[in-house]
Amino acid sequence: MKLFDNTEIAFASKSDAALERAFFLFRLIANQPLVKIGTHIAQFALKSHLPVEGLIRASVFDHFCSGSTAEESLQVVDVLAGQKVYAVLDYSVEGAKEEISLDDCLTHILATIELSAQSENIPFTVFKPSGFGAFELYEKVSLNKALTKQETAAWERVRQRFIACCDLAQKKGMKLLIDAEESWIQPAINLIVEEMMGLYNRETAIVHTTAQMYLKEKLSYLKALKDKAEAEGFIAGVKLVRGAYMEKEREVAETRGWSNPICSSKEVTDNNFDQAWKFILENLTHFSLYFGSHNEKSTYAIIAAMAENQIPKDHPQLWFGQLYGMSDHISFNLAHHGYKASKYLPFGPVKDVLPYLIRRAEENTSVAGQTVRELELLQKERKRRKIS
Ligand SMILES: Cc1cc2nc3c(=O)[nH]c(=O)nc-3n(C[C@H](O)[C@H](O)[C@H](O)COP(=O)(O)OP(=O)(O)OC[C@H]3O[C@@H](n4cnc5c(N)ncnc54)[C@H](O)[C@@H]3O)c2cc1C
Repeated sequence: MKLFDNTEIAFASKSDAALERAFFLFRLIANQPLVKIGTHIAQFALKSHLPVEGLIRASVFDHFCSGSTAEESLQVVDVLAGQKVYAVLDYSVEGAKEEISLDDCLTHILATIELSAQSENIPFTVFKPSGFGAFELYEKVSLNKALTKQETAAWERVRQRFIACCDLAQKKGMKLLIDAEESWIQPAINLIVEEMMGLYNRETAIVHTTAQMYLKEKLSYLKALKDKAEAEGFIAGVKLVRGAYMEKEREVAETRGWSNPICSSKEVTDNNFDQAWKFILENLTHFSLYFGSHNEKSTYAIIAAMAENQIPKDHPQLWFGQLYGMSDHISFNLAHHGYKASKYLPFGPVKDVLPYLIRRAEENTSVAGQTVRELELLQKERKRRKIS
C-alpha cells in the first residue's frame, strides 16, 4: 500500500458522523451549479441578516474552519496533536481597507501569535499582507511610483505592522508564514519581507515569504533570493505553493494589457513547482521550506528526494502543510511516518470568512480530480469501517 492510501490513519480523528458529514458535503460541492447558487444565496442571506449562520456553521464552516475565534480553534489543535499533526492558526477575515481595520487585523494577529506560543503544537502563525496595508498602496509601491506625504506615512505604518509581528514572533519563539496574493502587489511585499528576513532570520528562519510557482518568473526569483541570503547571511524562509489566483491574474493581465504572468499550462506550473523544491533541497543550508500542497505526486517526489539525499524526515527546516478539511490522507499519513506535517486552521466570524469558504468550495468544484479524490477516500473509509 502506498503511503497516502491508508484511510484508517487519514480519518482516525473523524467520528462516523463526521465522516458521513464530510462525504455528504463533498457530494454537494461536486455539483457545480449548486455551488454557484449556494454561494449567491449565502452571501445574500448573510448581508440581509437572515438567520443562516447556523446552517453555514453546521455544513461548510465546520468542515473547512476550526472555529470563530482562535481560542475555539484550540479544540481542533488538540485533535490534530493527537496524531502528531501541527496547527497553523489562520485569522481568515479579508477585505480590510481603512487604517482602523488594518490596526484591528494587527491586533488579531498579535493575539494569535501570543496564543500560539503557548502550545508546542502550533509552530507558525500566518497572515495576509493585505490585512496590514491598503491594496492600492502596495500596488503603487510595486510600480515604483512616487508616494504623497500621506502615502509615505501610511507605507511606514504598514512596515511597522510587519515589524510588530516579527518582534513578537522572535520573542515568543514562533515562526511566521506570509501569504501571497495577487502578483502585481508582490514586489512591494517582497521589499518588506526580504528586509524582515535580513533582520530576523539570522540564526533560525522566523519569517517565510510565499512563492507561487504558477508565476513564470518565480524560479529565478528564488535563485536570486538564495544569492541574497548567502551574501547577507540570513536564512530564506519560503512557503512554496502553486498559486490560488489564476483566473484573476489572467483577467487583470488581459484588461491592463500586461503579458500573462502565469505559466502556459498546468504541466509547466507543475514543472516549475518541482524545480523550485529541488533547488531548495539542494541549497537547504540557505533555506527553510514550508511545502504547501495537496498534490500527491509532488509530495511523493519530495519525500523520495529527501530519502535519496539522506535528509531526515523531521528536518527542522522542512515542513509540509495542507488546508483544514482537505487532503487529510496526506497530512495524517505524513505525520504518522515522522514528517513535520501541519494544517492551516482558518478561523473568524462566519460572515467574515465567507470569501475564504467560497474559494474553497469553488476550488474543490473546479480543480480536476480533487473532489473526486476526496470522495473516493471517504467512501473507502466508510466501507472499511462497515466491514470492521
Ligand atoms: C498550506 C497551504 C497554504 C497556501 N497558501 C497560499 C498562499 O499564500 N497564496 C496562494 O496563492 N495560494 C496558497 N495556497 C493554495 C495553493 O496555491 C493552490 O491553489 C492549492 O494548494 C492547489 O494546488 P496544489 O499544489 O495543492 O495542487 P494541484 O491541485 O495539483 O494544482 C492546482 C494548481 O495548479 C495551477 N494550475 C492549474 N491549472 C493550471 C493551468 N492551466 N496553467 C497554469 N497553472 C495551473 C494552479 O496554481 C492551481 O491552483 C496554499 C495551499 C496550502 C495547502
